Amino acid sequence: MAIIVQKYGGSSVADSEKIRTVARRIVRTVQEGQKVVAVVSAQGKTTDALIEQARTISKDPPKREMDMLLATGEQISISLLAMAIDALGYPVISLTGAQGGIVTDTQYTKARIRAVDSARIKKELDKGCIVIVAGFQGITSSNDITTLGRGGSDTTAVAVAAALGAEVCEIYTDVEGVYTANPRMVPTARKISQVDYCEMLELASLGAIILQPRAVEVAAAHGVPIHVRSSFSQETGTIIKEVKSVERVISVTGVASDDNCVKITLTDVPNDVNVLSYVFSALAEEAINVDMIVQTGTAGRVTALTFTVAREDREAALRTVAKIKGDQQWQVLCDEEVAKVSIVGAGMMTNPGVAARMFSALNGKNIPVFVVSTSEIKVSCLVPRSAYQEAVRACHDEFSLGE
Ligand code: ASP
Ligand code: MG
Repeated sequence: MAIIVQKYGGSSVADSEKIRTVARRIVRTVQEGQKVVAVVSAQGKTTDALIEQARTISKDPPKREMDMLLATGEQISISLLAMAIDALGYPVISLTGAQGGIVTDTQYTKARIRAVDSARIKKELDKGCIVIVAGFQGITSSNDITTLGRGGSDTTAVAVAAALGAEVCEIYTDVEGVYTANPRMVPTARKISQVDYCEMLELASLGAIILQPRAVEVAAAHGVPIHVRSSFSQETGTIIKEVKSVERVISVTGVASDDNCVKITLTDVPNDVNVLSYVFSALAEEAINVDMIVQTGTAGRVTALTFTVAREDREAALRTVAKIKGDQQWQVLCDEEVAKVSIVGAGMMTNPGVAARMFSALNGKNIPVFVVSTSEIKVSCLVPRSAYQEAVRACHDEFSLGE
């Protein structure tokens, strides 16, 4: 009998009626002859509400206690779902992350899974039980509760699927799958039937927040196929797996966008190779993730250095830059009215001229590009925030990604 791991997000278990719908769906899978492990998130906006509640007590709560608190959200949904399945007359057991053998490191609020000891899950499956595992949480080797960062249930599900050698990890959500662009921005966006791990990793990191990027990393490392699909329909969604290059006929798979970034520019900086290294080392020490980087004006004595950081890191980045600047005569500018638009596709590796087409599509709409960054399978452009949705549509049209 094959094992299937099904992950249900917060919106799929938001209320009792939805929990009963999920229970029926799990039971149907069992009736089809599969063993099912379901990984569940906290109901609806529970995690947000718990974070909010902590803030009414303390501005800076200890991270260990945060995890103790946040882990309760998933404990509610696993027990309720188990009750709903029991009411349908099927054997079922719910397990917390600790009981499910999810062992993590000690980085509270963003712990990483070190190992999945699947003995207990296997024992319950062998007894004929449906197993419900709490997503997003784990336990350290010294028995402290941890959480895996926002959206972490995806990673739990994929790690459990890998440990069990499951046939597939199904991620149930409130959309039909992965689209060529955000359907709210691009009405002609199309559901992608299959996408390679590396493309999905780019899409997930570039603002198409359907999956926690780490879940995709774990899936790729273990070759676990992921099926992203809607919990409200029976339609096939998007399969994420290794796609052989002969199957790649198109150069661009999707357009992603991210308006959660700000651009910081340092001008009149001495044109000195050390500048790059000390600016970015200082930012790294503060755990600030820098995204796009461009350095200009290398011919003269002075140069400009531009980079982007996430909006929530703005203050910390400016503070860090001010510290290393000291009383030197640099100018520091911060532009919040920017957004990043990216085209992603593994087919780019073998099809030249993709970046050129993106630039002319943007140029055709008079959209300026401030910074460009590329990898083998993506081209990202930083554009004015006021024009980014139009930029997404222009790229989507240029590569004929729509219906
Ligand atoms: N409940 C957690 C969150 O809201 C984990 C998850 O949903 O995957 O981030
Ligand atoms: Mg999620």
